[in-house]
Amino acid sequence: MSNTVFCPVTNGQIDGTTCLDIVLVADREAKPSILPEGVKWSEEQRQKCLTCKYHADIEEV
Ligand code: SF4
Repeated sequence: MSNTVFCPVTNGQIDGTTCLDIVLVADREAKPSILPEGVKWSEEQRQKCLTCKYHADIEEV
């Protein structure tokens, strides 16, 4: 997936690889240390990702 989507967690466009990394962290399958530089992590951020319309899409890939 090379297209970018608007991500409410980073407040900017991200590609599919970055989205997947963040999804993994939100699902607690990866540590927040893999997040892109500059992304602050919190429970609020996690909830934003869990409710994002792209979250479920990514899990199916
Ligand atoms: S699923 Fe998560 S990482 Fe992907 S765009 Fe939405 S908020 Fe961002």
